[in-house]
Amino acid sequence: MESASATTAPNRLNRIFLGIGGNLGDRLGNLRRAVKLIGERIGRIEKVSSVYLSEPWGFKHAKYFTNIVAEVCTTFSADEVLTKAFEIEAKLKRTRSGHGYEGRTMDIDILFFNSEIINTERLMVPHPHICQRLFVLLPMQEIEPDFVHPQNGKTMKELTKICNDAGKIRRLGAKFSNISFC
Ligand code: ADP
Ligand code: MG
Repeated sequence: MESASATTAPNRLNRIFLGIGGNLGDRLGNLRRAVKLIGERIGRIEKVSSVYLSEPWGFKHAKYFTNIVAEVCTTFSADEVLTKAFEIEAKLKRTRSGHGYEGRTMDIDILFFNSEIINTERLMVPHPHICQRLFVLLPMQEIEPDFVHPQNGKTMKELTKICNDAGKIRRLGAKFSNISFC
């Protein structure tokens, strides 16, 4: 008899949301390059949010971040997606000092992986800080307002409404998907 499993079966199409952002270098160019590389290396890009300009979260830095969220369909496992995300960050010249939050050219986080809950040494999904970060919630609610957070049962629309993130944030005019990145 087949047993139900929380882990992902090979070749199943997984619906994932990636948080993509950075505050160093050519910020919009880097977002565009990241989306292109994600499409080539991780899976089909289904939706991309507008670009949000946000104050650094959890640390001080002169440069604001540009953030987007992308919905992607992939056959890779969450672990494989993380490895590919690290490779894309490295290609876009991300360096890590290992000392907490810091400026970066590119950060790619796995926000959601289907509605799975994953807790391993290198991966926590849903990403642990989603509910405290408007730079994640605003683009998430823009592209998928009714998506339900699997751990608290609230939709992105509801979470945005109750979020008490006081950091400055604004949506940039143009929808990123209308800025040609392919
Ligand atoms: P930040 O918390 O600012 O994104 P990093 O990008 O340097 O910091 O990530 C730190 C670690 O977070 C990585 O080594 C990665 O293994 C781990 N991590 C845990 N859960 C996730 C997730 N859902 N998405 C991306 N990285 C994650
Ligand atoms: Mg990260």
